[in-house]
Amino acid sequence: MPYFYANHPRLVLQGVPVMSSKNFNDTVKSIGLWWQEQLQDLMAQAGEEEKRQAEECGDYHHGVPAITVIVDAGWSKRSDRHSYNAKSGVGIIIGQASGKILHIGVHNKYSTAHTQGVPQEKHMCLKTGTSSSEWRLIGDHIHRAR
Ligand SMILES: [Zn+2]
Repeated sequence: MPYFYANHPRLVLQGVPVMSSKNFNDTVKSIGLWWQEQLQDLMAQAGEEEKRQAEECGDYHHGVPAITVIVDAGWSKRSDRHSYNAKSGVGIIIGQASGKILHIGVHNKYSTAHTQGVPQEKHMCLKTGTSSSEWRLIGDHIHRAR
């Protein structure tokens, strides 16, 4: 894992005890999963808050509580003598009434582990597709957030 190897030599030279790469990678994975759980809980709570506010205001569309959302997505590009699309983009949906995040998603065209030949079941794969279109990304996230 690049994070581990980027800091390991400096820490060893400074005499700082260093955990094994396996322990480091397991810890990174655990923290990532914990963050993901926390984020999903907070987004679910925000969704309930938006729904409750819509019901209190009597805002319905065909019998379903209707909310207003702010949606954006980004995929970084560079055009300095050559064009370049980053391998990763992000999409986000925010509830207007609460101002809270209802959905956030990252879209990746690249997986380092895949490129290194690590089988899908042996790594937490973040590759989600091959498109770098912001509009496609927004559409994907709205569809997944329903
Ligand atoms: Zn992968």
